[in-house]
Amino acid sequence: MSIFRTLHRSILFLFAIVVIAIITLAHFSVSKIVAEQSRIHQQSLSPALSLITEHLMKPLHVSQTLSKSKELQALMEADTIDATAVHETLQRLEKEFGFLFFIASEPARRQYNSDGSEHALVEGKVNWYFKYKDKPENAVADIGKWEDTHFYIDLKIYDDQERFLGFFGTGKSLRSFLDLFAQYKQQYGYDFIFVDADKNITLSSDPDLVAANSKFHHLADLAWYREAMENGETSVNNRLIEKDGKDFLVAEINIQPFDWTMYLLSPLSERQTALSRTFIFSIISLLVVIFALFMLIYNLLYYFKRDMQRNVQIDPLTKLPNRNKVELRYAELVDQKRPIAVILLDIDHFKAVNDTHGHNAGDHVLRQVASMLDSQLREEDIIGRWGGEEFVILLPDTTPEQAYEVAQKLRLRLANMTASTGSLALQITASFGVSYTEGDRPLVEVLARADDALYQAKRDGRNQVRVQLTHAA
Ligand code: GH3
Ligand code: MG
Ligand code: MG
Repeated sequence: MSIFRTLHRSILFLFAIVVIAIITLAHFSVSKIVAEQSRIHQQSLSPALSLITEHLMKPLHVSQTLSKSKELQALMEADTIDATAVHETLQRLEKEFGFLFFIASEPARRQYNSDGSEHALVEGKVNWYFKYKDKPENAVADIGKWEDTHFYIDLKIYDDQERFLGFFGTGKSLRSFLDLFAQYKQQYGYDFIFVDADKNITLSSDPDLVAANSKFHHLADLAWYREAMENGETSVNNRLIEKDGKDFLVAEINIQPFDWTMYLLSPLSERQTALSRTFIFSIISLLVVIFALFMLIYNLLYYFKRDMQRNVQIDPLTKLPNRNKVELRYAELVDQKRPIAVILLDIDHFKAVNDTHGHNAGDHVLRQVASMLDSQLREEDIIGRWGGEEFVILLPDTTPEQAYEVAQKLRLRLANMTASTGSLALQITASFGVSYTEGDRPLVEVLARADDALYQAKRDGRNQVRVQLTHAA
């Protein structure tokens, strides 16, 4: 049946579209999410990296470059340090670069600062100098000056004979870092923690963690770090941690020249919101598309079904209702408690029509009989093809007498009708059996009576109407 093929094909076609749509959308959703995630990740790291570059690397590189200048070497090489010249040079540098600079002279054992101050480098009092002097590293980052804690970059200076001349370096007040961190925290919500090689906290966005009075906080003092490092972990990079009841993603970044490590704690809620927004949007679009497609399929199926039902209930040859449809209509009439007269009619000697004129001619005659009978009935009457050359007629609200009259009228019409085989004119007759019901008797039972009456008509010589009432059985 072509309708089934069409239906089948349409469903397959729509199914293919749904599958392609889902795959495409899923692909785009995933790529979008991945892109969004990288963007957020990058966005979260770039301010931190610019902070490192701007406030740690730049002072390092500037002071490294300056430490190689002949002018500085000449100042530090002199047998007696020209304090005025040193101060002038340092002031000039501070003005030019915006950082504090200092020279700690080994021969003079004095430290000169760009703010004009100076003090003696006495063992036991100025610890950093003696600590770093004997270390192999040429550049160190340090926290010091406890009355106004500073971050220092200390660079060793040598003369051409590799004689140690002292340190040159730059310093920055930790207070200025705290302001900077506060800005970043407000703008991006990040927390920063810098630790040295021993995991002493050197800088942090949390003022309580910043070193003071030569006392450092240790990274292991922090509960989240201890928890994250349980089970022998070596790094907390990309780990999710909980701090003060909030979730954070940790990025661990090594700052090579200082042998420091920066821990960047980005709050997860913001990342999640941005991510879930993208995800939810993709999923909703996906669902809308799927829903739309399935509504389409549903509607198509509904129309196919309705169409098929209609087709299934119609006799294709005569276009009259078929047996199913007649049974349904009979049930409806019974439900409405209406009295029903039933006429069953059978064309006489129809086999002869087929035998003489062929099957197509027979079909042609059947169609004409169907159409003639249909035209003679009332709107509420139901006529259907019961089988072969048999027709059934349901007459609601009709007495057996009235039904007999109807059958007689139809019999006469048929007998007087000139049927055509397509090429020849033909006279036909039919035999009629009438029955009747007032109660909710099954159709088969009522029809059995009509059939009895019909065969009585046949026996009585055909082209007759006979009645057999249900209750008379
Ligand atoms: P009777 O007067 O006893 O009813 O004789 P009859 O020949 O009409 O009865 P019978 O039941 O022997 O034959 C019915 C014939 O109707 C046989 C069958 O070929 C023909 N017939 C049934 N359905 C169709 C149809 O759809 N098209 C055509 N052309 N003929 C059909
Ligand atoms: Mg028959
Ligand atoms: Mg017949």
